[in-house]
Amino acid sequence: MIDSQGVIFVAICVLFILTLKGLSSSNTAKKSNLIGMIGMMTAILIPLLNGLKSPGLNFIISLIAIGSGGIIGFRIAKKIDMIALPQLVAAFHSLVGLAAVCISVSVYLAPHLYKISGVNTFIPVSNAIEMALGAAIGAITFTGSIIAFGKLQGFIDNPLIFEYQHKLNLTIGLILCAVIVCFVINQAPLLLTIIILLASSLGMLLVMPIGGADMPVVVSMLNSYSGWAAAGIGFTLNNHVLIIVGALVGASGAILSSIMCKGMNRSLFNVIIGGFGNEVGTTNNSPGAPGGTIKTCGPEDASIIIKNANSVIFVPGYGMAVSQAQHAIKELADILKNEDISVKFAIHPVAGRMPGHMNVLLAEANIPYEDVMEIDEINHEFARTDVVIVLGANDITNPSAKTDPTSPIYGMPVLDVDKAKTVLFVKRSMASGYAGIDNPLFYKVNTMMVLGDAKKVCEGILQAMKMY
Ligand code: NDP
Repeated sequence: MIDSQGVIFVAICVLFILTLKGLSSSNTAKKSNLIGMIGMMTAILIPLLNGLKSPGLNFIISLIAIGSGGIIGFRIAKKIDMIALPQLVAAFHSLVGLAAVCISVSVYLAPHLYKISGVNTFIPVSNAIEMALGAAIGAITFTGSIIAFGKLQGFIDNPLIFEYQHKLNLTIGLILCAVIVCFVINQAPLLLTIIILLASSLGMLLVMPIGGADMPVVVSMLNSYSGWAAAGIGFTLNNHVLIIVGALVGASGAILSSIMCKGMNRSLFNVIIGGFGNEVGTTNNSPGAPGGTIKTCGPEDASIIIKNANSVIFVPGYGMAVSQAQHAIKELADILKNEDISVKFAIHPVAGRMPGHMNVLLAEANIPYEDVMEIDEINHEFARTDVVIVLGANDITNPSAKTDPTSPIYGMPVLDVDKAKTVLFVKRSMASGYAGIDNPLFYKVNTMMVLGDAKKVCEGILQAMKMY
């Protein structure tokens, strides 16, 4: 006989796999999100429908929890600013970690309710291992994500670095492993408490020393941890959907972290142990910065330079996201195309604050996918381009990544914008980017700084273009 619930569970997992596959391309990302939502709704509805058969107090509590959680999540997601997404993701991951800890504790206190063992009987070793790992990974994810949220939101300022930090983390990690083994053998409540306390402090200590530029990678790693914690709990609860979905989240988070590290030419290990992004940057305001002469121009002059070009490449960065300049850029690109000027967009893999950040914003403004090029496709084109307009980007164009072995971003592939005939740098000031380092490109002879908010500058250029 076919188990209808089993079939539905398989269908849910297929929906999640299709979601992940579709999210890898901007063309299919929107549809894939919808597929994922349908999968998640079904996964929530099935146990609710089962509960309807014998509704009791637990059913009503679950209904209230899911309903209020859904409403809160919906409202936050509706209101959230695109640039605040990394901290939102960190905040949500902390809840996944906390849920894993709570479920582990609940299963430990009442294993008979989860059909794991009888009242007051020994919990089977395999379940005790899952429980201990779920609690440990969950606690690391919980506190690590809270610290990540605090840093990304600006509540926690500097990376906390002290002597013997890595040795301390290693010692705590080893003690944690030993206590997990003892718990599996002994199953004393004190040991589970120690596991949660040690893992919680480890989560904090691991994220504290990590520098600002690496935080998005850390968020992605925590995303991965939360997936593995969910998978561990799935084993405990004998819930196959939770195991598969947890493994999907765990694996995709790990792959995403690896993609980000590749984009920055850094090793994951190097990011996790902290260091990069902690350096005090040098801007032209700080003593010892290279400095030099800079040339500035206003939107009107910029519009003349652009109008006289045959080819233009836009390089969007974090500042474009901050100012929400994508719609003004689209309007500008359309005007240029009407004047037979070739227009392209160059996307760096770590532009903005999360992978695909720029692709999403450009897609939102209906900029055609065929005009949007990845770094490998476009880098050779800069040398034969008349004007490059860098909009709120900085680190991703910094040539010291290629030339200065002492630079913290040395080795990161960058967009070769400096090879174009003219570079128009649109940003508000001479301040550094996320890595906190000076950009020598500002002082090059073919660079013009167009200082101001990216959206306002684009609107100024548009206005000037329409006038002449
Ligand atoms: P950067 O942070 O290097 O530079 C952004 C620039 O935008 C700043 O110099 C700022 O200068 C300017 N800016 C800010 N607000 C505005 C505004 N309203 N109008 C105009 N300009 C503005 O961003 P990039 O995109 O160039 O580089 C991304 C950085 O993030 C890299 O260091 C990368 O390693 C890091 N990172 C990204 C990840 C990802 O997945 N995308 C992952 C991990 C790290 P000013 O204040 O003068 O205006």
